[in-house]
Amino acid sequence: MYVAVAVVVAGVGLAFAAFMQPTEPISIRQDKRAITEVIVHSSATPEGKPFTAADIDRWHRKKGWRCIGYHFVVYLDGTVHPGRPVEEMGAHCPKNRHNYHSIAVCYIGGVAKDGRTPKDTRTPEQRAALRTLLAMIKAVYPDVKIYGHRDFMHTHCPSFDAKSAYTDLTIEPVQPERPESSYNGT
Ligand SMILES: [Zn+2]
Repeated sequence: MYVAVAVVVAGVGLAFAAFMQPTEPISIRQDKRAITEVIVHSSATPEGKPFTAADIDRWHRKKGWRCIGYHFVVYLDGTVHPGRPVEEMGAHCPKNRHNYHSIAVCYIGGVAKDGRTPKDTRTPEQRAALRTLLAMIKAVYPDVKIYGHRDFMHTHCPSFDAKSAYTDLTIEPVQPERPESSYNGT
């Protein structure tokens, strides 16, 4: 699925990754915040519509928020784009202070073409990218637990059971001494 995956580890718990189309590299840093959870969201946008992190940023600013509330956004094509820096608390799951100790991952989609009916619209590329991204986050935060928004609040988001979907997720090995590595094909 990925043409190239580059991982850089410098010092303890600092990882940097570029995905297949690394136009916007993402970084996962060890945060001063005690990160204990990853909360998976959908953008609650109709199946097949290629919305972007910039769109979400605009929508969230309209709500009066400082910027996009999620830390990472997974596009329909499986590319992963940065949202709010991980070092900053997100705005995505206010109940019981979940924002304080979580990282928010959002995939584009989550409702059917009617724009209302909850639906797991993840493309094969998004499924693969989510697994890779979540594994990379676990590599930096080994004890982190993965949930869906709906595990904490009255919502259908992210339209699938994230809590059970990733229980088998293993930590992907990182290569500390190599600044960049890539591979082709499967
Ligand atoms: Zn959500």
